[in-house]
Amino acid sequence: MVTTNVVGIGVSPGRAVGPAVHLPDAVAEPPAGRRLPPGADRQAAVEQVARSAAAVRDELDAAALAAEGDAAALLHATAAMAADPSLVADAQQRVRDEHLVPERAVWEAADTVSADLEALGGRMAERVRDVVDVRNRLVAHLTGQQAPGVPVRAEPYVLVAQDLAPALMATLDPQRVVAVVTAAGGPTSHTAILARSRGIPAVVAAPGVLDVPDGTLLLVDGAAGTVTPGPSDDAVRRVRALAGAVRTFDGDGRTADGHRVELVANVGDPAEAQAAADSGAQGVGLFRTEFAFLDRTQAPDVDEQTAAYGRVLAAFTGRKVVVRTLDAGADKPLPFLHAAPETNPALGVRGLRVAQERPDVLEDQLTAIARAAAAHPGTTTWVMAPMVATVDETEQFVAACARHGLTTAGIMVEVPSAALLAGPMLAHARFASIGTNDLTQYTMAADRLLGAVAALSDAWQPAVLRLVEATALGGAAQARPVGVCGEAAADPALAVVLVGLGVTSLSMTPRALPDVAAVLGATDLATCRVLARRAADASSAADARAVVRAGLPVLDELGL
Ligand code: PEP
Ligand code: MG
Repeated sequence: MVTTNVVGIGVSPGRAVGPAVHLPDAVAEPPAGRRLPPGADRQAAVEQVARSAAAVRDELDAAALAAEGDAAALLHATAAMAADPSLVADAQQRVRDEHLVPERAVWEAADTVSADLEALGGRMAERVRDVVDVRNRLVAHLTGQQAPGVPVRAEPYVLVAQDLAPALMATLDPQRVVAVVTAAGGPTSHTAILARSRGIPAVVAAPGVLDVPDGTLLLVDGAAGTVTPGPSDDAVRRVRALAGAVRTFDGDGRTADGHRVELVANVGDPAEAQAAADSGAQGVGLFRTEFAFLDRTQAPDVDEQTAAYGRVLAAFTGRKVVVRTLDAGADKPLPFLHAAPETNPALGVRGLRVAQERPDVLEDQLTAIARAAAAHPGTTTWVMAPMVATVDETEQFVAACARHGLTTAGIMVEVPSAALLAGPMLAHARFASIGTNDLTQYTMAADRLLGAVAALSDAWQPAVLRLVEATALGGAAQARPVGVCGEAAADPALAVVLVGLGVTSLSMTPRALPDVAAVLGATDLATCRVLARRAADASSAADARAVVRAGLPVLDELGL
């Protein structure tokens, strides 16, 4: 029996208590080479594959209808994969030609699709987990087993798993599953992002949790990344008391002594914009426009883009929206933009660099943004470019925006060179927004999608904090605002550090706004600065996190 704390990486803050319930074993692989008996009706077996695919797709679509936002979108995406004609046709072919039983044929066809996705790399490779999920559902359906899924229990519990497919994560009911702990996974995986957006405390990369027996009472701290088996009665009481407190954000971000910090939302899909506006966000600090381009063989036309961007601007009348131009490449591959495969896509033609090869794509996008802005004069529209690395690129982007009448053009700081040259760049650009997800990846040379380097992919790394500081100093020298829109802004303790380093706005998933606002509101600017200095001077990410958390008793009071 495990009695010591299990340590992992906290990816969704909040504390929860409940008995451990392990996710049931995955569907077993049907034996290789299992064939239909001689004389079996092969055509019927072929049709059975299509029927099961349709049934699984319908089940997932029905679950999507009962879900919201990210969860619904992910379930629909998985449903589409279940009905993927290439997967179904490949499996049917194997039944027809090799006489495989349908479940074995599906298994092998899914292996082929997975291998193809893995070869594409980036976000496509991440979808392998969805394919495996669909495969398991299909095999369960074909063999009459219970669909793999979340156990049903009368009392709320902590779900423990080796890993969790995003489609499964998306179906979790936060009233029933109070926290999630997985042995695998990284901080920027889909599962982590979903846990955060659904407000379920989560710890990933905690292999020790697999040794915890079913039913053991666990206290999960999704900020600290710890899992405590058999917590004291006192600790349990405190967590339960805090669970009843619902925090909201009143739309006014300030430190305890009144220093204003703009607290804004990240939006990735126009469908989420209204909910973000209702959350009190003071605007949108990062509107990711990739959604309009994903799964396309051609860029959407100007009219379609104008309508989509307009939906977000409409939801934020009277407030500001920062629209980011297309960030294609690396973890967001768009096949129609990349003619030749790259051996190292994260260092390749991505973000603003795409405009060199395809200036038409940027031109169309700026045209659409300018039209949407003109149609919504009540909203303040700013534009920024991703992956800017040089002063020349900054100048060219600002000039391109100006040609479209977009006068407030900024840069994302995601590459160390941009952090170091923030001053000269901000002589041209009107603002900067630090993308800590990529800035961390490029500073630490650690793939943001790879669980194996998750400890390096941590925005608490002192080197990353020093680059944030350099950027803020560059901004101050030019009297330009510098925000943060990476995941770091959603961590209340790190938010304090960022403000202390001179950051003027924080953009995050809307769910994080109340916690970040509460911690900033309880901390004065001088304390932010002292803690920021300690964090930037620490010798490791762990030390930086520990020294700051120790200086913020409010985190404990709020259960963060
Ligand atoms: C970032 O890199 O921190 C960022 C906000 O951009 P994205 O996550 O979309 O790459
Ligand atoms: Mg980025």
